[in-house]
Amino acid sequence: MTYQPSPGRYAYMEYRRCGHSGLKLPALSLGLWHNFGRQDDYEKCRDIMHTAFDCGITHFDLANNYGPPPGAAEETFGKILKDDFKAYRDEMIISSKAGYPMWPGPYGDFGSKKYLVASLDQSLKRMGLDYVDIFYHHRPDPETPLEESMTALHQLVQQGKALYVGVSSYSPEQTKEAYKVLNSLGTPLLIHQPKYSLMVRTPEQGLLDTIEKLNIGCITFSSLAQGLLTDRYLHGIPEDSRAASGRGNGAIDTNVITDELISKIQRLNTLAEGRGQTLAQMSLAWVLKDKRVTSVIIGASKPEQVLDSAQSLRNYNFSEDELRQIDEILG
Ligand code: NDP
Repeated sequence: MTYQPSPGRYAYMEYRRCGHSGLKLPALSLGLWHNFGRQDDYEKCRDIMHTAFDCGITHFDLANNYGPPPGAAEETFGKILKDDFKAYRDEMIISSKAGYPMWPGPYGDFGSKKYLVASLDQSLKRMGLDYVDIFYHHRPDPETPLEESMTALHQLVQQGKALYVGVSSYSPEQTKEAYKVLNSLGTPLLIHQPKYSLMVRTPEQGLLDTIEKLNIGCITFSSLAQGLLTDRYLHGIPEDSRAASGRGNGAIDTNVITDELISKIQRLNTLAEGRGQTLAQMSLAWVLKDKRVTSVIIGASKPEQVLDSAQSLRNYNFSEDELRQIDEILG
C-alpha cells in the first residue's frame, strides 16, 4: 500500500521556534528509542510513523544505539523512509546522536572526535541519508575535552553531514561551555535535549534558565516517564507494556512500580479527568506550558497513543490550584 500523507497534516500542530535559529519544531516530536527494534512488527512501526506525520509531527528523533540491537531503530527508520517518505524528506527533521556504547573498544563510546565522526557516518548509512538535520552529543564525556567533542560536531556541519547540532543531558555549566566553543567555531548550538517530566524536575534547577539566557531550543525526553505518567499502569503492569517487556535497553524497572507510585498515578489521573484530559495529555501539556520548551519527544508503542498524545495541545493552561495539587500528589 502506498502511503499518502493526510492533506490536513499542518492544520493542527503548533510549530515553535528553536531558540533564535531559523528552525521551527513541532510541539510534539516522535522518538524511536523503543518499539522500532528488530523484533518489532514492521507494519506497526510504519503505522506509528504515518500517524505521527499525519498529525503534523515532522520531527523524528533517533540515536546510533536505539534498537535493540543497537542500530536497529535507524535501520527500521531507513526502510520506512525508503518505502513511504522518499517524497517528503524536505518536510522532515531527522536527528541522531552518539555518546553511549555503540561498538567494542575505546572508539565506540563517549565523545572523542574519532567516535562521533565514525558514528554519524554509520547512522547515515543505516538510515540511507546524505545528512541528518540535527546531530547531538548524547551525553557529557568526563575525559574528552569538550573542545574536541564540539569541534567534531562543527566539522560534521562543515562537511554537510548535519545541518544543526545539539547536546543532551549536559549540565548548565557544560551547556554554557559548549555554546561558547561552538560559537567561536561559527556553528551555533541549536538545542539541548534534557529529561523533563512531572516526575523529573532537574531542568528547573538552572538548566531551563540557561537555555533561556542562551536563547537555544529545548526538546525534552521521557516526559511521560516511559509510560508511568499515562493510564497504562493505573491497575498494575499490563503484559504488553514497556515495563513488562523484559528487554532492558534502559526500560522502566518493574521494581519502581510500587503500590505507592500507582496510588499517586491514580490521583494524577483523576486530576487529568477533571481537566477533560487523559493522564498522558495532561503530563505532556504540563511540560508544554513552559514556552522555553520547543518540543516534547514522545515515544509510542501504538498509533492510537500518538493520536491521544497529540490532543495534549488542546489545553496547556493550568490553574494555580491544579499546579499545587499536582505538586502535592507527587510530594
Ligand atoms: P515517553 O516518556 O514518551 O514514554 C513512551 C511510552 O509511554 C510508550 O512506549 C507507551 O508505553 C507509553 N505511552 C505513550 N503515549 C501514550 C498514551 N497516549 N497513552 C498511554 N500510554 C502512552 O518516552 P520515551 O522514554 O520513550 O522517550 C521518548 C523519546 O525521547 C525516545 O524515543 C528518544 O527519542 C528520546 N530519548 C532521549 C534520551 C536521551 O538521552 N537524549 C533518553 C531517552 C529517550 P508502552 O510502550 O508501555 O505502551
